[in-house]
Amino acid sequence: MMYPGGMPPGRRPAQQGAYKDLEATSLFCPRCKQAQPVRRRLLLVLPTGEKYSYHCAVCGEEVGSKTEKGPMNGVLPPLR
Ligand SMILES: [Zn+2]
Repeated sequence: MMYPGGMPPGRRPAQQGAYKDLEATSLFCPRCKQAQPVRRRLLLVLPTGEKYSYHCAVCGEEVGSKTEKGPMNGVLPPLR
């Protein structure tokens, strides 16, 4: 065997921790016509949470968005 130090093949430790904000997520990109890794971008900060959009890391096409609920959990008292 040719693995000094017992490093198993297929591991890429140099890539870890480069993007702390990047979630390990891939979504289908309509432009690339395949699933691609995505980058999350903060769009808006709302009283109910933060809205993020997800962009294809390859071509930049927006492939999705979501709103993360803030501490108010999305429930607002009715304004009267
Ligand atoms: Zn793409």
